[in-house]
Amino acid sequence: MNSEIHHPKKSSIPMPVSRAEALSGGRQHYFTGKPCKHGHVEVRFVSSGECMECSRVRAQRWSTKNPDKIRTMRKASAARNADKVTERYNRWLAKNPEYHANYRQQNSDKRALYEAKRRSAKAAAMLGHLTEEQLEQIAAVYAEAKRLTEETGVLHHVDHIIPLQGRDVSGLHVPWNLQVITGSDNSRKGNRLPLDNQALDAVQARKDEMVAPPRKPVTNPYAA
Ligand SMILES: [Zn+2]
Repeated sequence: MNSEIHHPKKSSIPMPVSRAEALSGGRQHYFTGKPCKHGHVEVRFVSSGECMECSRVRAQRWSTKNPDKIRTMRKASAARNADKVTERYNRWLAKNPEYHANYRQQNSDKRALYEAKRRSAKAAAMLGHLTEEQLEQIAAVYAEAKRLTEETGVLHHVDHIIPLQGRDVSGLHVPWNLQVITGSDNSRKGNRLPLDNQALDAVQARKDEMVAPPRKPVTNPYAA
């Protein structure tokens, strides 16, 4: 019989049976097969001699005593990984459109308020000032966002370069104020202006291209 002890969870490399053996082999864990002072038969750390179960219990006790520190650590970790998390969520959402539909249905009151505000902002922003050709250009931007979402599996949105309901300045629902960006870029941008001055200037330089408003405002065909 092979008397060498193998830890069942680990690879086929034999686990050192003593701290001394682990140290001489440059290893970080060892397994004596004997219970620790708290009765756990577990792998131990070379650094402290503590068994893994004792270490888990100690960590658990610490986090119960330090909920604020845990919360801070979780927040910091979430902030570090925010982009990855958003990307993963957007990829998942693109593959599970029914979830979005359900969510919208369950939050229909909030959604209705949001849509109403957005619709009126859009309507105010367009107010029939656009030509047929410009309306088609807007439709093309939305089609492009849909195409990119389907082809890449990453959610793409139509973004207003100058936000429709920005804090200081309101943008227009016109083709040259639209751009296709990923969902995560969009959530990061929110209702803020672009940091890029060139993008702003490019939009503002074209504000004279609006045609004269007709007497009756057209209904907004993009009100979702
Ligand atoms: Zn222990």
